[in-house]
Amino acid sequence: MVPTKQTPNFGALNEKEKNIYQEVVATTLAMFAPDYEYEETKVEVDVKGINFEATGKVEKQLGWKLLFKNQQQTKKKETVLSAMEKGQACQVNVEIAEGQTKPPKYYTEGQLINVMKHAGKEVDDEALQHTLKESEGIGTEATRASIIETLKHQLYIEIRKNQVTVLDKGKILCQAVEGTLLASPEMTAKWETYLNKIGENKGSQEVFLDKIKQMIESLMQEAPRKIGNMEQALQQVNEKSFIGDCSCCNHEDGKIQDKGKFYGCSRYREGCTFTLPKKFLGKPISQTNIKKLLNGEKTNLIKGFTSKKGKKFDAYLRYDQTEQKMTFEFPKG
Ligand SMILES: [Zn+2]
Repeated sequence: MVPTKQTPNFGALNEKEKNIYQEVVATTLAMFAPDYEYEETKVEVDVKGINFEATGKVEKQLGWKLLFKNQQQTKKKETVLSAMEKGQACQVNVEIAEGQTKPPKYYTEGQLINVMKHAGKEVDDEALQHTLKESEGIGTEATRASIIETLKHQLYIEIRKNQVTVLDKGKILCQAVEGTLLASPEMTAKWETYLNKIGENKGSQEVFLDKIKQMIESLMQEAPRKIGNMEQALQQVNEKSFIGDCSCCNHEDGKIQDKGKFYGCSRYREGCTFTLPKKFLGKPISQTNIKKLLNGEKTNLIKGFTSKKGKKFDAYLRYDQTEQKMTFEFPKG
């Protein structure tokens, strides 16, 4: 903002314009105003052997704050302490204030990247803390964003109104790895430490891979017990994600579910390869339309498909059972 020599006709401004003008003028003047000076006092009081602390301010010179005096009145008053001497006896009112803590705020996607970057802070071991600092937490500058993308694709997390929320599947993942080395930033730190050793020619690839092998083996032994405990939760998540019956293996109870990048059959392990795409010729296909396709109906009219030659067109989709592919049906007229 650059001040000019023009003086506005203050009287001609409306209420809001006046407010804005005054705010700008005050802020500009504040840059050249003297400092706001105060004395901060910290008092320690011994009440029957228990220590209490109080801090307070004594304003010496308002300085730039003078320009904003009207606004300050609405703000919370700061505690002003009277002058005291060391060792002085005083009257104290001890009260218990009741309050409620607030749950921590949800992370935004940007904060999440930051948290990954600084993931060593809560690690107790100082040496590991150092390594995590050196290796810059979880992932690298280049991979963190794509790690989050993967979590979204796999439906572990979801971004709602710029807030990161953990989905049911993500909660199960957390339960599954809780308390194991997999969930600990220390594991990354330990690996990085050893990789550094290899870099300095003090360790070998074989030892490193051997250790990882051992770890995986012990995790695999633990896994069935852990998963057993979560069977019910897994079932619920699965059922929630069911969109309809698989037309390929309906009689076998195959269900179509969201697989992240496409829709597929819950019996894919038994060999059912039925899938439906989430996007078709450049247009996303809604779950409502997927349900219609699974029921053998045509979809709602989908506008704006792009043909292979780059032409735009509108059409209904149908799924042809025998050909096992999508077919178009065009609006009449
Ligand atoms: Zn199937």
